[in-house]
Amino acid sequence: MKILVLGGAGYIGSHTVYELIDAGEEVVIADNLETGHIEAVHPKAKFYKGDIRDRAFVDSVFDNEKIDAVIHFAANSLVGESMVNPLKYYDNNLCGTKVLLESMVAHNIDKIVFSSTAATYGEPERIPIMEGDRTEPTNTYGETKLSMEKMFKWTGKAHGLRYVSLRYFNACGAHVSGQIGEAHKPETHLIPLILQVPLKQREHISIFGDDYDTKDGTCIRDYIHVTDLAQAHILAVKYLMAGNESNIFNLGNGVGFTVKEVIETARKVTGDPIKAEIEPRRAGDPAQLIASSEKARTILGWKPEHADLEEIIATAWKWHSTHPNGYAK
Ligand code: UDP
Repeated sequence: MKILVLGGAGYIGSHTVYELIDAGEEVVIADNLETGHIEAVHPKAKFYKGDIRDRAFVDSVFDNEKIDAVIHFAANSLVGESMVNPLKYYDNNLCGTKVLLESMVAHNIDKIVFSSTAATYGEPERIPIMEGDRTEPTNTYGETKLSMEKMFKWTGKAHGLRYVSLRYFNACGAHVSGQIGEAHKPETHLIPLILQVPLKQREHISIFGDDYDTKDGTCIRDYIHVTDLAQAHILAVKYLMAGNESNIFNLGNGVGFTVKEVIETARKVTGDPIKAEIEPRRAGDPAQLIASSEKARTILGWKPEHADLEEIIATAWKWHSTHPNGYAK
């Protein structure tokens, strides 16, 4: 198979490319390198630098390469930024996907696997969250991802395109080799921020609220290893190649950890006392987000291989401790 990975220089995209190449697939990457890193591009992948909002660019990739399926990671993904600059998210995430779909339809490419998010649900109506549950995003980021899912749905009805949307819970960890990992600027995610304390880049980790209705008062999230997410994309491509219908799947371990538990595990992994301070709640944080991934397990045959939180944090630590400035020299 020849797979086009849009956003293949980003965090989850680069890990998916590594798994695809390990599985013997041919990979073409397109990335505008706005938030992605050229160093994260696998040396065996063919790379095109460009933006999915640029129709001529997208057309040229499809003209040059005989693509069997697309995996789409090319989007902005910071919740906080999406609230202060919502139109940036509509422009890149929605307008970009519109251009992409126009080009796919024109080139008769009819299979796409899409990087979606638990943020499509908003405040959950029950735990664990099922794919059919209410979707009422509480931020622009989640809203644009939900709208992208709908674009695939309606484009599919009109033009025969089939899609799989993968709604990730909390992506974390790094490739076991330590060669690639998470490198966001600014960093907003819990695990890399915690690890900045033993790296002496941060004096303490802030705990955003300890008055939630949870066992220790801090928020509960479902942390899922990036390589397990990557594997789900490969299974989703195979699912579409086998002729199956469009579908939506949650991806998580189905187990929740509190912010305090994550910090405690990071102390164990790093051997550092990691100072923590309680701060006010962060706006828009639901108390608990835990996935039911039964559907992905049953239909895709997906099984997370790195479900242990200590192992997840150990892979993240291997990456961050050897690349304290991310990909920057
Ligand atoms: N969090 C925290 N301190 C931080 C960053 C995050 O307490 O410096 C909490 C946050 O409130 C949430 C959890 O850690 O409950 C995971 O946050 P993250 O931003 O990593 O992912 P999200 O759940 O927002 O997708």
